[in-house]
Amino acid sequence: MSGNNGSDSPDATDPGLEDQDIAGRVANAIPHLDGNAVAGPLWELFRFDIVAAIGRCRHCGAVRAFGETMVYVDAPGIVVRCASCEGVLLRLVETPTRYWLDVSGLSYLQIDREV
Ligand SMILES: [Zn+2]
Repeated sequence: MSGNNGSDSPDATDPGLEDQDIAGRVANAIPHLDGNAVAGPLWELFRFDIVAAIGRCRHCGAVRAFGETMVYVDAPGIVVRCASCEGVLLRLVETPTRYWLDVSGLSYLQIDREV
C-alpha cells in the first residue's frame, strides 16, 4: 500500500483554496448595472437609443426592454445578461482600433423609428 509518486508531500494546506472561495460561484454577489450602462458605447455604434429597444432573449424567450437587462462592466469588455434567466444577451469589447460585438443571445431587437 504505497503510493509511488516518490514525494513526501506534507499535509499542505492549499493556499489557493481561499482564492477559490473568492473567485468561486458567488454569482449573486457580482455587482452589475442596468441596461443604461451600455447606452453610451452602443450609441457610438448604432446611433439609436438601445435602452428603449425591446429585445427577445434567445435562451428563455423573455421579451423585455433593453434597459431592464443586467450589465456587467467588470468583465473583459461589457456583458449584458437577461434579467429573467441571466443568459448572455450581448457582449461588447472595445480595442483601440475596433469593436467586437456578439449579439447571439438575442433573437431580435425591436427599435422604435424616429417619426
Ligand atoms: Zn432569458
